[in-house]
Amino acid sequence: MKIYQIENDHLRLSAISTGATIVGIEYKQEDAWQETVLSYENLDQYKEDNKYYLNSVIGPHAGRIKNGNYLLDGTNIQLEQNDGGHHLHGGSHGFHTLDFTCVAKDNSLVFKVFDSHYENKVEVRYSLEGKSVLISYCLLPKYNQVINMTQHMYFNLSNERTIENHEIWSDAGYFSKLDDQGIPSKDIISVENTPFDFRNKASLKEHVNMEFEDFNLTKNIDHPIKTKDGFLSLESRLSKIGVKAQSDAEYMIVYTANYFDNTIKLKNRKESDVFSGITIEPQDLPNDVNLNTSRSQIYGPKRPYKRKMRFDYYDL
Ligand code: BGC
Repeated sequence: MKIYQIENDHLRLSAISTGATIVGIEYKQEDAWQETVLSYENLDQYKEDNKYYLNSVIGPHAGRIKNGNYLLDGTNIQLEQNDGGHHLHGGSHGFHTLDFTCVAKDNSLVFKVFDSHYENKVEVRYSLEGKSVLISYCLLPKYNQVINMTQHMYFNLSNERTIENHEIWSDAGYFSKLDDQGIPSKDIISVENTPFDFRNKASLKEHVNMEFEDFNLTKNIDHPIKTKDGFLSLESRLSKIGVKAQSDAEYMIVYTANYFDNTIKLKNRKESDVFSGITIEPQDLPNDVNLNTSRSQIYGPKRPYKRKMRFDYYDL
């Protein structure tokens, strides 16, 4: 499988056409390159069964939509129910399964595809600027539909067995509590006294060891954190690398790989176990098409969808 690469003095980004998936972001320190994201050892896995959605573009709708349905101008739209009666990550026709074309241009990789199932013209651009990875999406739907994309990045900045020693912090003061079926709800509540209070820098160990009632369903952290106009950062004292995520989306889903089960071999790693990596997935609130807490998630020929996100790397 062909790997497309862009590189500057600080970063090297590698990606493949299946799902416009990022299979590497290496960061240069002195003369050594450190890998900072997870990938499958066997690249064919992305085509065969990308069950962890590892670093792929997720669309047209990331996260869960309750019962896989929503109302569009009074008509009930039924999506595939591929996750316990609900819809998750675009289902079997999700963008992570599509074969994008790629063109390398001015330190950018531009991936394009026509999604013939949901009928969207999709463009994904990865660029390097100094120590930053910039990601932008532009999508032109042929008809009105719900759109909420993300990049399903899993970070592990040190290649330790787990990310428990990584430190996390964010200025986010609110998150969405999940309902009794694990779907984001209208309860946008304070992070105070919950595992999602990242306002003081602390190791992930402290957060994943806390108790929270939603964890009966999600096993651990797998929640939309309201990072609108803010940031979320990760640092590893071992590798001395930090990464700060920002986006024009209202939320970031933080997920600690709670469903990793050692069944797929990851590159350069013995285990693909729980906590092997942590996702930072910028997106608007999943299921908001049924909740209406914010701007409409219906896009169409007259309202193209656009999204920007950035991951700024730095030395500790
Ligand atoms: C979801 C998790 C899901 C995972 C699949 C995340 O975006 O929030 O619930 O298990 O994707 O890799």
